[in-house]
Amino acid sequence: MFEKNKNDKKPIIQTSGYNGSEPTRTCPHCGKDKPLSDFGYRKMNKDTDEVRNQSWCKKCR
Ligand SMILES: [Zn+2]
Repeated sequence: MFEKNKNDKKPIIQTSGYNGSEPTRTCPHCGKDKPLSDFGYRKMNKDTDEVRNQSWCKKCR
């Protein structure tokens, strides 16, 4: 698990692997391992700039 830090504005990224050039993540919808660039990001909270990756890949969305 990640340690929580109130002042940490780094994106919260959930990954499951690494394909040699970027982290990968399994899409819960299609079940495929895809690079994070296939998921995209969304800003969760405009006050804290918290950023998370999307849970589904672009194709499933
Ligand atoms: Zn998918």
